[in-house]
Amino acid sequence: MKAIRRFTVRTVLPDELASLGRLAANLRWAWHAPTRAVFAAVDPQTWESVGRDPARLLGEVRPERLRELSRDAEFRARLDEAAANLDRYLDSPLWYQRFAEGAETAPPSAIAYFSAEYGLDAALPQYSGGLGILAGDHLKSASDLGVPVIGVGLLYRHGYFSQSLSSEGWQLERYPEIDPRGLPMTRLEDDGSPVCVTVALPDDRLLTAHVWVVRVGRVPLLLLDACQEDNDPELRDVTDRLYGGGNEQRLRQELLLGIGGVRAVRAYCARTGHPVPEVFHMNEGHAGFLGLERLREYIETVGLDFDEALEATRAGTVFTTHTPVPAGIDRFPRDLVERHFSGPVALPGLPVERVMALGAETYPGGDPDVFNMAVMGMRLAQRVNGVSRLHGAVSREMFGGLWPGFDVDEVPITSVTNGVHAATWVSEEGMETARSLVADPEEFDTPRGWERIVDKGEDELWRMRCRLRERLVAEVRARLRVSWRQRGATEAELAWIDDALDPDVLTVGFARRVPSYKRLTLMLRDRERLAALLRHPERPVQIVIAGKAHPADEGGKRLIQEIVRFGDDPRVRDRIVFLPDYDMALAAALVRGCDVWLNNPLRPLEACGTSGMKSALNGGLNLSVRDGWWDEWFDGSNGWAIPTADGVSDPDRRDDIEAAALYDLFEEQVAPLFYDRDEAGLPKRWLEMVKHTLVSLGPKVLATRMVREYVERLYQPAAVSSRRLVADGQRGARELAAWKRRVLHAWPGVRIEHVEVAGKDGPPQLDGELVVRATLVLGGIDPEDLSVEVALGRVDEADELVEPSFTELTPLEDRDVAPPLVRFAGTVPLDRAGACGYTVRVRPRHPLLTHPAEMGVAVVPEPATGIGGLVLR
Ligand SMILES: *Cc1c(COP(=O)(O)O)cnc(C)c1O
Repeated sequence: MKAIRRFTVRTVLPDELASLGRLAANLRWAWHAPTRAVFAAVDPQTWESVGRDPARLLGEVRPERLRELSRDAEFRARLDEAAANLDRYLDSPLWYQRFAEGAETAPPSAIAYFSAEYGLDAALPQYSGGLGILAGDHLKSASDLGVPVIGVGLLYRHGYFSQSLSSEGWQLERYPEIDPRGLPMTRLEDDGSPVCVTVALPDDRLLTAHVWVVRVGRVPLLLLDACQEDNDPELRDVTDRLYGGGNEQRLRQELLLGIGGVRAVRAYCARTGHPVPEVFHMNEGHAGFLGLERLREYIETVGLDFDEALEATRAGTVFTTHTPVPAGIDRFPRDLVERHFSGPVALPGLPVERVMALGAETYPGGDPDVFNMAVMGMRLAQRVNGVSRLHGAVSREMFGGLWPGFDVDEVPITSVTNGVHAATWVSEEGMETARSLVADPEEFDTPRGWERIVDKGEDELWRMRCRLRERLVAEVRARLRVSWRQRGATEAELAWIDDALDPDVLTVGFARRVPSYKRLTLMLRDRERLAALLRHPERPVQIVIAGKAHPADEGGKRLIQEIVRFGDDPRVRDRIVFLPDYDMALAAALVRGCDVWLNNPLRPLEACGTSGMKSALNGGLNLSVRDGWWDEWFDGSNGWAIPTADGVSDPDRRDDIEAAALYDLFEEQVAPLFYDRDEAGLPKRWLEMVKHTLVSLGPKVLATRMVREYVERLYQPAAVSSRRLVADGQRGARELAAWKRRVLHAWPGVRIEHVEVAGKDGPPQLDGELVVRATLVLGGIDPEDLSVEVALGRVDEADELVEPSFTELTPLEDRDVAPPLVRFAGTVPLDRAGACGYTVRVRPRHPLLTHPAEMGVAVVPEPATGIGGLVLR
């Protein structure tokens, strides 16, 4: 018989061991090796058999063993030390507290971070890939820095699927159920009964959710759980699976995450006294509805109108976009969204047409029938960012239509390059070495700390790399055996697995989700050449591959099958291996043990990529297409760049070219370097590259660097903006909204009548100046409310200004022109030689705007009088 539900009976711990319960209840064990060592010591065998999950360990360990430990003075001393360490960690002032002391204005009291998925530990399968892992690393690093973040997400009862293979190599999916009571989380309660968060749905239905609180070090993570009795069976399934179900299911999930999430934050702060967030961070479009709930709050409880509430909300909101793949953008059928925000389920004060306008693709090429969550996020957030420098540029291009008056370069989307949480991804011995050599972890924020590690000596470094590779090989064999047994092989057929992979062979890792742009099978382009690499008599290469295809993605599953089938061939099966069920545990083993981390996406479709960063922190070398973070930080000697055929439009030819470049790199550079050994057996030049990788990339790829950037460049400025708008009875928000209304109303009347260059005789000269006068019609707008600028720069063949610089013109008291004409003038320094051009641009100006392009509107002269050409000599 099959159980219909799982549940976990908690052990009663002897008083002497009560701290074990407290340690298990805070996820810090996930990144604190000494705490994990205490759990391992409770019962090493059970620890391994429960997948190193403290909560399960405590559920399964025998009571006699606990009694024994409670009398074991040495164990109790270790336990006390771990508990004291946790207390210190939770209470001591950290980076953010010092940042607050030095800041001119107080940083945000708290930041609410919303994400549809979180990858915190393999024991909590609430993530599908990079987005979730990033969110998990964000929370952990915020905790390590003392940043007061509250995380908000959903609790999926069946999480994301676990993957196995059929005998034919086809992906099979299983959704093991989780039991929140067996996980490190507690239910948010009020006098013993669960706090309920509700969201109204059409047809008189009410979606109710409980709230689970996960302690991620210092950071509380609130997870909303719809699986409970107040809901009818269909609504109980709203939080059943991550990215499961159709459009309506996904929309309900996102309504719960965004609207319910804000309500959960309110309930949590009210019950615990936690400071109320001043800043809200939407991690991708899934979380966008949080902005609508905040609009409702401002309208219903403060009495603002829609426009005023919009200003107040925007000022304190940050939106992060994570994908340049159009298919990856979260969009819903328009009428579906409309149904969820109209009639009796409309949010009070939010007319449905205003809601719909927020998600409308109003730009050229936009689809009038969809509601775009990313676009809504950008309209609801004053600050928007992509996740690598290249992705920032691609996003400005992709979403530039929302700011039609401006060139792509000026679109107000910045970037904060992702990072990874070192203590999660670096091997335990790596962390241990780091701790023993560098006392102050902040030294790792600069190359100095990393130099100390690499100065320890090359043989030390090599021994560690070899140990990690060896451990990976052992792990691969064990997993491979399990996988083959699942595929139906008998033990007798699997003797070859004892010799699969070789701990001395150059080991390459390739693991990621399997959307087509990641090109899982690029390496199969020329199978003979690949086989020759694997079988090379002196310089062989071995490859470990892993990855999940989305359950609905048949194409992705075919790619997996292709790789699996290739690896099934007895001629190569000991050198190329596909391991099913790529999750955080497998990822950790791979990024630690692989010598080379391979990534070959179709540029520029990888927004950032983070697995290569994890590898770099462990002394792996990246070999990647220059996409995402690698485009930014590859410096010519910290790894390899696969040359790309960016301009080639035939995808087959492009793949051929890039695959050939990949084989060339392995044959001519990577393998020769790895196998070039000195008398002591050390690959000197390889280790030079490893050392350079650690020193050059170490400080950059840390998620603490990323979170500090978010604090300094986005959260803190957002808090300042937000306060300026909400202080004094929301005076700023009212003022700004009224001003925008007035200016936008009058905007169609703004015109540039005439532009002239007055000034010196003769041709313009470098280091000279240009006196520009512009005659404008302002359509009733006060000159104070406008910025009139000269843009001057080089011009390309199409007369487009390239990287222009701007000089502001000032209004003149000029009797030569009569109303409605107004004249502006100013002097532009000529600081570059060559073919230049200029134009004049008018845009709205207000001290509460944060970016010149923020309102998206600008007026330039009609083309005929547009660019003035001139050549500087
Ligand atoms: C790090 C990680 C990812 C993201 O890696 P990419 O380089 O962005 O593909 C995905 N899944 C798991 C399990 C990870 O650990």
